[in-house]
Amino acid sequence: METPGHGPNGGNRTQETLSNLLQETRRFDPPADLAAAANVTASAYDEAERDQLAFWDRAAERLSWSKRWDTTLSWNPPFAKWFVGGRLNVAYNCVDRHVEAGNGDKVAYYWEGEPEGDSRAITYADLQREVSRAANALTELGVRKGDRVAIYLPMIPELPVSMLACARIGAVHSVVFGGFSASALKSRIDDADAKVVITADGGFRRNAPSALKPTVDEAVAECPGVEHVVVVRRTAQDVAWTDKDVWWHDLVERQSDEHKPEPHDAEDPLYILYTSGTTGKPKGILHTGGGYLTQTAWTHHAVFDLKPESDIYWCTADIGWVTGHSYIVYGPLANGATSVIYEGTPDTPHRGRFWEIVQKYKISILYTAPTAIRTFMKWGDDIPAKFDMSSLRVLGSVGEPINPEAYVWYREHIGGSRCPVVDTWWQTETGAIMISPLPGVTAAKPGAAMRPLPGISADVVDDQGNSVPDGGGGFLVVREPWPAMLRTIWGDDQRYIDTYWSRFPGMYFPGDGAKRDEDGDLWLLGRVDDVMLVSGHNISTTEVESALVSHPKVAEAAVVGATDPVTGQAIVSFVILRGNVAESDDIGTDLRAHVAKTLGPIAKPRQILVVPELPKTRSGKIMRRLLRDVAENRSLGDVTTLTDSSVMNLISEKLPSAK
Ligand code: ATP
Ligand code: MG
Repeated sequence: METPGHGPNGGNRTQETLSNLLQETRRFDPPADLAAAANVTASAYDEAERDQLAFWDRAAERLSWSKRWDTTLSWNPPFAKWFVGGRLNVAYNCVDRHVEAGNGDKVAYYWEGEPEGDSRAITYADLQREVSRAANALTELGVRKGDRVAIYLPMIPELPVSMLACARIGAVHSVVFGGFSASALKSRIDDADAKVVITADGGFRRNAPSALKPTVDEAVAECPGVEHVVVVRRTAQDVAWTDKDVWWHDLVERQSDEHKPEPHDAEDPLYILYTSGTTGKPKGILHTGGGYLTQTAWTHHAVFDLKPESDIYWCTADIGWVTGHSYIVYGPLANGATSVIYEGTPDTPHRGRFWEIVQKYKISILYTAPTAIRTFMKWGDDIPAKFDMSSLRVLGSVGEPINPEAYVWYREHIGGSRCPVVDTWWQTETGAIMISPLPGVTAAKPGAAMRPLPGISADVVDDQGNSVPDGGGGFLVVREPWPAMLRTIWGDDQRYIDTYWSRFPGMYFPGDGAKRDEDGDLWLLGRVDDVMLVSGHNISTTEVESALVSHPKVAEAAVVGATDPVTGQAIVSFVILRGNVAESDDIGTDLRAHVAKTLGPIAKPRQILVVPELPKTRSGKIMRRLLRDVAENRSLGDVTTLTDSSVMNLISEKLPSAK
C-alpha cells in the first residue's frame, strides 16, 4: 500500500517517535538593511493569527480579478474551494496586466540556452504577443476550455508560453519533464486524456542535441485520443513525421498576436502535474487557478523578498517539476519579476557555468536544490571563487532537507556570508511554499525550515495525532486548508482521501517526518518511509546524512536501514568524498567515530561505503529505496525514474569492500 507512512518502515508504529539527535547551535540573523526594507515583516504572523481567511483575502487582492469572490473558503473536508465565485484569468495576471501598467518593455525572462551565446531577452510585451499567438493556435486546433494539453519540452521559451496559452483559454496543462521515457509520457498522456501534445525535435544536453520527438512518436502511437502534436524546432535534427504533427512555426507564427483573455472561475482547473515518483506510482496532482496563483505570488514576494523593479531572480529547477511551475512561471510572472531561465546543466561547458550566469545577469535571488549544492561542494570552493557574485542578496533551497554543512557552504561560498538562506519546505501537492524562514525576519538555523509561513497551520504530531511538545519529533501535518493545496488526484478522489487524509483524521499528512526543537522551530527529516528503526529508536536518515556531511572529507551521503538480526535495522551509509580527498583505509573508522561523536553511539553506521555517485531521481533526489536493496543484497527494484541507472552497478561493485 502506498499511503505515506505505511511503507516498510513507515507509520503504524507504537514505538517512540523520531529521536531528536542533531544539535545545531549556529544562528544567522537577517541582514539589517534587508530587514529594514523587507516586503514582509513579523507583523504578518500576527495578522494571519488574528484572522487567517482575512489574511488570504489580502493576498488575493494582490491579483487582478474580473469578479471578486463571495466566499474566501468553502471547506467540505477534505475538499476545499477557495475564493468561491471569484473570476480571473491567470495568464492576464501573469502577463497583460504588467503591460497595461506600463511595464511592457520590462524583461520577463532572460533565456540562456545551453550552447554559449544562445540567449534571448523576452519582455512582458513580447510574452503577451507570444502567448496570444499560442492561445489562438490552440484554439485553431480545437482545444477548448477544460481540455487537457500535454507539454513535453526542453527548457526553452515555448515551454512557459505554452503553459500560459493553456491557462489563458482555460485548457488544463500537464507538463511532463523532458527526461522521462516514452512509457512514462504515455501513461501521463493517457491518465489525463490529453488531446494535444506540445513537444520539440529535441533539446541541448551537455553540448549535444538530444532528441525528444522519437519518444513522443512512440508514446503517441499508443494514445489514440491525441489529435495533434505541435513540434517546436529547436535542434534541427531530422524527425519522423506523422499526420498528427504540425510545426510550431507553421502553426503559431501566422496567428494574430492579439487574444482577449476570458475570465475563468477561481476553481477551474489550471494544471495537472504528476509527482516525481520518488516513492511509487506518480499521482496526477490537480491545481486550480485562484488559490494557487494567490499563494505562489504571495510566497514568492514574501520568502524571496522580491523587488520587481530591481531584482534579477533565478530558480534553477526544471519547469517540468512543481518548483518550476510555481517559482519560474506563475509566482514570478504574477509579481512582474525579471527571471532567468537556463536550458542546460551546471557542468556544461564547464563547472563554473552557474556562477558565470549569476555574474552575467547580476542575479540577486537564487533558488536551487541541496543536490546541486552538494555537487558544487564536491567540485570544490575554488570554482565559485572565480566569479563576481556580489549581486546576490537572497538564497533559497528546496527539494530535500538541506544538510547544515551544505547550508553553511552555500551561505559562505555562494552568498559571500552576507545573504540569508531560506530553506523552503513544500511539495507538488501543496502547490506553494509552506514552511520557510522569512529573509528579513527570521534568525535562521542551518538545516531548519523554521516556521510555517503566515496563514499556514503546519504542526508536528505523534502517532496518535497529538501535537508534540517543543523538543519532540513525529509526523508533519497541516491542520487547516491553504489556498494552493491540491484539490484532488486527477480522476481519483478516493486515492486523494486515502493518501493524504486518512493517516490522521481531519489533518493533511504530506508523508514527511519532522521535529520541533526547544525553540519551537521545525526541522524536516525526510520521508517517513526513510526513517530507520535501530534498537527501538526511530532515527532519521537525514540526521545521519547531515552528520556525515559535516565531516570535512565528505561531500554527500545517503543512509539507509538494512535488516539486522541484532538491532532490527542497522545503518548502512554510502558516501561521496569531496573533490580532492583520496579514499584511505581508515575512512570508515573515521566516519563512524565522527557520527558517534556528533549524534551519539546509537546512530553509528554498521557499514560505510565510499561510492563515486548516488542514485538520484530525475528531479535530483536520492533514491534510498534502491540503496536499501543493495544493502540487503536484494535484486534492484524499479530503476526507471533514475537519471543514470549505471550508477547502481558502480555501487553494487563496491559492496565486497565494505568498511
Ligand atoms: P513522490 O511524491 O512521487 O514520491 P516527491 O515527493 O519527490 O515524489 P515532490 O513533490 O517534488 O515529489 O517533492 C516533495 C518532497 O520533497 C517533500 O514531501 C519532502 O519530502 C521533500 N522536500 C522538499 N523540500 C524540502 C525541504 N526544504 N526540506 C525537506 N524536505 C523537502
Ligand atoms: Mg511526494
